Amino acid sequence: MRLVLLGPPGCGKGTQAAVLRDRFGIPHLSTGAMLRSAVEADTEIGRRAASIMSRGALVPDEVVQKIVALRLGLEDCARGYILDGFPRTVAQADALERMLERADQALDQVIEFTISEDELVRRITGRYVCTKCDAVYNEHSKPTQRKNICDVCGGTSFRRREDDRAETVAERMAAYRAETAPLVPYYGSRGLLTQIDGSQSTVKVTTALLGALS
Ligand code: AMP
Repeated sequence: MRLVLLGPPGCGKGTQAAVLRDRFGIPHLSTGAMLRSAVEADTEIGRRAASIMSRGALVPDEVVQKIVALRLGLEDCARGYILDGFPRTVAQADALERMLERADQALDQVIEFTISEDELVRRITGRYVCTKCDAVYNEHSKPTQRKNICDVCGGTSFRRREDDRAETVAERMAAYRAETAPLVPYYGSRGLLTQIDGSQSTVKVTTALLGALS
């Protein structure tokens, strides 16, 4: 199964992608996570991407496309994958189509999570991450079960993502509206798009998602 999860920052793509990864045993490919690793490892790509990401803009298409092309060629993608945060522009979607065509493959579905901007800002600015295992929590909707102890690894140190600050979030939303929203009609016209109300609880979104995929 080859899936694309589409939707603005904070709509729940990452959370739902992790559920699908565990359920179907296919990798969750987040270009945001790949870029953050490159920044942390201080690679050439990471150095190029760091300042762009911290101001909430999009990393150039050719950089992201190269990372994705390499990743999709790895063994664990043979049975499918869940793309989270890619494609984010029409040029990236065209590039993905070409990559798939070359491998004689196609996307199975594109899922768009719809949600209001007010709710997104609330979610993103409440988000925090375990520094040890990267599990994601939220002050409002999904705090750790025991105060300040990670549910997954027991870690006790947490951080905010640098680009989750309120002023950067506005920039990321603007980038979404201008660059990524056109992918909705793009995939709609190809008959691949299913829309799910992303403002529901995580469990309800998962139920709707599994229904759409069955
Ligand atoms: P995310 O974790 O998906 O919210 O991505 C975090 C940041 O990484 C974005 O705000 C962009 O700066 C960058 N990024 C992630 N995916 C892409 C992409 N497909 N194209 C361009 N920039 C991206």
